[in-house]
Amino acid sequence: MLSVLNPLQQLRPSSKPLKTVSLARGAQGSQAIIAKLDKPLVSTEYINAHLELLPVFHKVHHAIQPGGVTINPTTNMPIVSEAQALFTARAQHRFDLWISRILRRPGRDPSSPFEEAELPPVDVLMFLHAYMLSPWNYYEDSKRVYPELEAMGSFPFGFARALVDVATLELVPTPAQIAMWESQTSTTFAIPLQTLPAETVLLCCPKCDSEVRLPWVNEAGTGYGQRLFKATCSQCNLNIDRDALSLSKLLRDISSPRIMAHTLLSRSGVADLASAQEFSLAIKEELGLPRSSDGDQFNWKVSVVESILTRDVKSDGVKKKLLHILKAYHHPSESSLDLGQAFLRQARFISEMDRIQWSGSKASFPGKEAALEDAVERYHKFVALDPVAMVACLDIDLAFHTHQLLGPTFAQDSINILGRLLDHDDSVERHVIIDDLTRTSEVWEEAYASAYVPRFPPLLQANKPCTNSCSMVGSTPGEYEEISLKKKRN
Ligand SMILES: [Zn+2]
Repeated sequence: MLSVLNPLQQLRPSSKPLKTVSLARGAQGSQAIIAKLDKPLVSTEYINAHLELLPVFHKVHHAIQPGGVTINPTTNMPIVSEAQALFTARAQHRFDLWISRILRRPGRDPSSPFEEAELPPVDVLMFLHAYMLSPWNYYEDSKRVYPELEAMGSFPFGFARALVDVATLELVPTPAQIAMWESQTSTTFAIPLQTLPAETVLLCCPKCDSEVRLPWVNEAGTGYGQRLFKATCSQCNLNIDRDALSLSKLLRDISSPRIMAHTLLSRSGVADLASAQEFSLAIKEELGLPRSSDGDQFNWKVSVVESILTRDVKSDGVKKKLLHILKAYHHPSESSLDLGQAFLRQARFISEMDRIQWSGSKASFPGKEAALEDAVERYHKFVALDPVAMVACLDIDLAFHTHQLLGPTFAQDSINILGRLLDHDDSVERHVIIDDLTRTSEVWEEAYASAYVPRFPPLLQANKPCTNSCSMVGSTPGEYEEISLKKKRN
């Protein structure tokens, strides 16, 4: 029984880091490295390019669903409408087409530089944007399943910003881009905001590998892009649903030599390939080395695999690790991150940037360049604290997000400075964020003898609470009072 996992029985139970207000030894080292940087971790030019794209993304969210994305105040997660579910399902499919038909097209050297004509439509670009803002998933997947993304390097800011029409807040594609997309993918370049019953998608049956053509939508609400999706393979009668497709993805990984998702990085973000290989092999052997079509033995459900793997595991640490690995297989897309969900979560940050008027049509204000330089400097100070479960103020977060969009450069900077890959988790529950923000402000105030408050343009600076962009906690004075009260109690 998962004998190789035994050493991991020693894992410390996952708990929040010990509360401390003095700089750890590691943080002192990070400060010294940051002080010696010959250029900032992220340039204001990149931040400006990022800010120019956000209103375009904002407009797409509002085109999908009037009013944009609604956040559940308790869970802090998006409440997904039927239109958003359909749009994200189609965008996922288009993201897959971009990788498989454009970045992997025959004759393209996988290591060749990214070309302007390869720039995908805005929905796919937004998926890429959300993906890169989950650096642990992105780093591991770039090594594991998407080497093309690693070769691409940073988010294609330069190509994308050049296409922004500031009047319409849309990207105006080049003829070469449209030709590349439409000839390689046989789908229209324009984003699909409407879906007709006649529009279909082609799948491979996970059991018998025969082609299954499915409508995106149908009256019963069981189309491939709908939440109640289900279908039957006409060849082998398999009931195909999201669970079956998710299990199929798991079995593809199990029956291939590659490591399982969520195994490469340690809990602190240090890559360890040998350990990932060992852990992956242990899981594969425990399940009896099934082939990719062997889903019958698991009833085509990831939950069955989960109960097999965890049934005799006594260590909480190992169980948590197994559940973390399986979390990457609770959705059918090839990425370990559910990109559709991540895309919707990003809408919060995009709206906040619009709200504080750093992005959008009024984004040019006096002193903007200085404000962005200040954000970068404060981001350096944030990184120097070797942040674990810490929350970035909105201005710092903008620099943090932009740095993450540098992809492999972000990973390398993070490893050089901290000895580990910094993560960015925007799926944290609200009460956890409040705790983390409270702790962050204590650590910051102790280290820098200044209050941890965000810096906004003069226009909005008055009475603005410290805001975490990834959760929108602290967006109201009441919430900031809650944080202050907690600080007093501690
Ligand atoms: Zn079949």
